[in-house]
Amino acid sequence: MRCPFCGADDTKVIDSRLASEGHSVRRRRECLSCAERYTTFETAELTLPQIIKRDGSREPFDEPKLRAGMLRALEKRPVETEEVEAAVTHIKHRLRASGEREVHAHELGEWVMDELRRLDEVAYVRFASVYRSFQDVNAFREEIERLQNSPPPGFDQQQIPLLPDKHGRRKKPTG
Ligand SMILES: [Zn+2]
Repeated sequence: MRCPFCGADDTKVIDSRLASEGHSVRRRRECLSCAERYTTFETAELTLPQIIKRDGSREPFDEPKLRAGMLRALEKRPVETEEVEAAVTHIKHRLRASGEREVHAHELGEWVMDELRRLDEVAYVRFASVYRSFQDVNAFREEIERLQNSPPPGFDQQQIPLLPDKHGRRKKPTG
């Protein structure tokens, strides 16, 4: 594995432990050239179902795309990288456990929302607003009202930094 800082291929594993409930191995590495340290996650590759898109076409499950979408929703939110990795791993686990050869994109989207809801309310709302907006505006409004009426434990402490800006606007996600 090449060092992401200097490109040298001589690195030393300085710590190795199970992560994501045992579904992956987290390794702390040190470059023997520049002495920078970085972390890698290693997961067993298994065949995952194809994703059925809204237009009926199929595409392979795209883990980087899934992660990028989640990270976009989680931008500037106080969530650890390892928690995001655990959520990605959990979604992949659900994909495999579904036992289906094909899974609908909207089902995958619901799973992402399950994970985000658990990780961070704001990220959940961001994702849900983008994901559901063109499908059903009323459903989204109801969801917001439901969230407002029943904040989960710990939600209070997070309220101040949540506000995107003082006008209540949110930047459109890019990409
Ligand atoms: Zn290096």
